[in-house]
Amino acid sequence: MTNQDLDWPIRVAAMNALQKLVRQRGEVLPWNVINQGFMYQGETLHFANRARGIFWPRHMRETALSIKTTVPREGREARYDDLRSNEGFQYRFQGTDVESRDNRRLVRGMAWDVPLIYFYGIESGFYRPIWPVYIAEVNPAELSFTVVSAAPDAEVLPPGLHAADPKLLSLERRYATVQMKKRLHQAAFRQHVLRAYSQRCAVCRFPRLELLDAAHILPDRDERGRPEVPNGLALCKLHHGAFDTDLLGIRPDGIIEIAPRLLAERDGPTLEYGLKGFAGKALSVLPESREQQPRRDYLEARYERFLKAS
Ligand SMILES: [Zn+2]
Repeated sequence: MTNQDLDWPIRVAAMNALQKLVRQRGEVLPWNVINQGFMYQGETLHFANRARGIFWPRHMRETALSIKTTVPREGREARYDDLRSNEGFQYRFQGTDVESRDNRRLVRGMAWDVPLIYFYGIESGFYRPIWPVYIAEVNPAELSFTVVSAAPDAEVLPPGLHAADPKLLSLERRYATVQMKKRLHQAAFRQHVLRAYSQRCAVCRFPRLELLDAAHILPDRDERGRPEVPNGLALCKLHHGAFDTDLLGIRPDGIIEIAPRLLAERDGPTLEYGLKGFAGKALSVLPESREQQPRRDYLEARYERFLKAS
């Protein structure tokens, strides 16, 4: 068996194009952007296929280019069970036969250690592309592959050219996979929170996506501080910063307070209108559905912290 990845030039073109897309559009891409494909030798090729999980453009002879999560149904949130474990991602076989055309391409990809792209479904129609990923194991009993990722800044090398010995490489990828899962969780949290708040700051209604964050009400390190919508608030950069430094507090009934030390200061419009102006006002954007609104006990715990800091 040759160790040469005949499909290498296409793979590199795809990954370079994806890098550009993510730089322009952010790390979560809508399907219509992914579906525009990439240029290879004057021709447009696809990154992935809407209906299939395992994909390669017809020019690729040996292995696959990408894998894609089956899309969670419209209106239903993905459960991300996969993200809770510290192991690799479990990627389901296409069908039940490991010898089928699609699965065989991944088995070969594993044998040759070729880098693939993983379009990880964040919600219906939205994917966070991860690359390079590698097939680490085939699990016939579970009808799945174990997929691991490389460090996000790792150089994508042709198969067989990795400097680290295989044991070290496998450890590195394990570690990188755990880090990647954390990032995916945060990406999903951001996506869901911003959608629940109609992509506006809950304090000032500012609508520019690039300047919006999904803030945690209870921080990550709090055991209740899960990245779920009722523990989130969509906030613009200014109000997120003010909330995190306890210059801006939110009462459990949704009324905004500004720290006394800030109220006593005088300055230009950002302070006067952008911060002090919201004192005593109610949050102006909240999710429509009750289950998605901030949990009162979370707000209470957070408000106590604000009071102590003031
Ligand atoms: Zn704001």
